[in-house]
Amino acid sequence: MAKVIIVGGGIAGLSAGIYALKAGYEAEIYEKNPIAGGECMGWSRKGYHIDNCIHWLTGTDPKTGLWETWKTVGAIDENTEYAETSKFYSSRAEGREVTLWNDLDRTEKELIEESPEDAEEIKKFIQHVRYAEDCVIPSIKPMDMMGIRDYIEMGKGMANMPKVMKEYGKINCFELGKRFKSPVIRKMMSDYLPGEYTAYSLIVSYATMTSGNGKIPMMGSLAMSLRIAERFKEMGGVLHTASPVSEIVIKGKKTEGIKLEDGSFVPADYVISAVDTGFLFGKLIDGKYMPKELAKAYEKREAYPVTTGFQVAYAIDADFSGEDTIFFDCEPVKIGTRTFGRISVKNYAYDKSFAPEGKAVLQANLIQTDADYEYWASLTKEEYAVKKAELSEQITQRIVKEFPELEGKIELLDSWSPLTYNRYCNAYHGSYMGFVTTVGNKQMRFKGTVKGVDNLYIAGQWVMSPGGLPIALVSGKFAVQRILKKAGKSILI
Ligand SMILES: Cc1cc2nc3c(=O)[nH]c(=O)nc-3n(C[C@H](O)[C@H](O)[C@H](O)COP(=O)(O)OP(=O)(O)OC[C@H]3O[C@@H](n4cnc5c(N)ncnc54)[C@H](O)[C@@H]3O)c2cc1C
Repeated sequence: MAKVIIVGGGIAGLSAGIYALKAGYEAEIYEKNPIAGGECMGWSRKGYHIDNCIHWLTGTDPKTGLWETWKTVGAIDENTEYAETSKFYSSRAEGREVTLWNDLDRTEKELIEESPEDAEEIKKFIQHVRYAEDCVIPSIKPMDMMGIRDYIEMGKGMANMPKVMKEYGKINCFELGKRFKSPVIRKMMSDYLPGEYTAYSLIVSYATMTSGNGKIPMMGSLAMSLRIAERFKEMGGVLHTASPVSEIVIKGKKTEGIKLEDGSFVPADYVISAVDTGFLFGKLIDGKYMPKELAKAYEKREAYPVTTGFQVAYAIDADFSGEDTIFFDCEPVKIGTRTFGRISVKNYAYDKSFAPEGKAVLQANLIQTDADYEYWASLTKEEYAVKKAELSEQITQRIVKEFPELEGKIELLDSWSPLTYNRYCNAYHGSYMGFVTTVGNKQMRFKGTVKGVDNLYIAGQWVMSPGGLPIALVSGKFAVQRILKKAGKSILI
């Protein structure tokens, strides 16, 4: 039986492993960390669990192909329980508060009550969110393997998406905000995603929640990663943890296998790289193999920024009722190279397994990008520790000022920065998503093959913007389908 070696045991690597087994190959995953999951992760501190990934899982609607794919890898099924959240997020400003509810009628009514003079713009926004509810991430096969019938089928379901692109594809979130007169609605439009991101991304993200296709599985991100790893092992796959790979060995036009950091060599018939592409090219194989599209995105940092964050987690000794995510104005605070006059907190009380009874975990995530990563990387170890502590304290003060009921009831659990994601996952500039699409630039995507190396394939969130869990998932499956196609076998797995 031919053997597929997968480098990296995040969601993409685990998915590739499961689909390789389904396709009849032997599969082994080599993961550098002691547990699988990569960026779909969580950890415990002082009896609390810090969940650090799923804000929404695209593909929780059983009518979608993505749901089938998540089910195949053991992430969710018909019995999965989801968090009972009712909103995407709320925004406060100048004594007012507005919310993007999962119930679109309610959002429309409340926003119009808040700002009747914006009624027309609000109605247009809501209508386009409804259109975007049809947005589908291809999960049956890669788009370049789709035939005319597949395209017609996909197009039928997404007939309204061009309208969303036309109206919101050429403006960013700041510009979207400017279409509204109400100060709080203006701010809301660039609260969740950084203002430079296309407005279209905000519409599609919100639509994922309103359509019921973006729920949060209970027990969190780590539990989901471990369920997938378990499925891989039950199917006969071998998962090597704490096994960093140092090289994908290429001879002529083929890879012969991988070399581990301990010096051992593991032969393979096929290799799927499911590590960060910024690490793959240059570290595991020569940078000369990098596909053109990808190289262009790495060069153009302004046009294709990355998303990472400085984050702080707290234990709350109270039944804090602020549901889910709230953005609010605060005294300016400089984090990395950016100064924030607004921050947010996300309340994790929706999952009782994260905290002792009557208590909850609260997190603040301050978005960072390339220049901020450089800033954090420029600090010495001592400066880094001092900076993290200082900023954590400054953020605590701002949260308590906004929520005085938390005075004396909020305790720091942990804080981490873009460097954490780089250390833990070798993530390029600490990014936990793929390249951001900014206005006027083409969405980044490439095939997941390596020109000049016949049996090496690439999976992972960088294969297609904006990345995230669904792209990681399908890219693992697609890499196996490319192997099958090359071997002249049916790609339907
Ligand atoms: C705070 C946060 C919030 C997020 N929210 C969401 C969300 O709500 N919805 C969503 O869809 N996505 C979300 N994401 C993004 C999502 O977590 C990622 O897109 C996804 O997990 C990436 O998976 P991946 O397998 O492509 O990459 P990774 O998870 O980076 O996996 C790569 C793996 O390769 C391993 N590796 C690296 N180098 C080596 C080596 N030399 N040898 C062996 N192994 C190696 C790494 O340790 C890692 O396990 C969020 C992420 C974060 C951090």
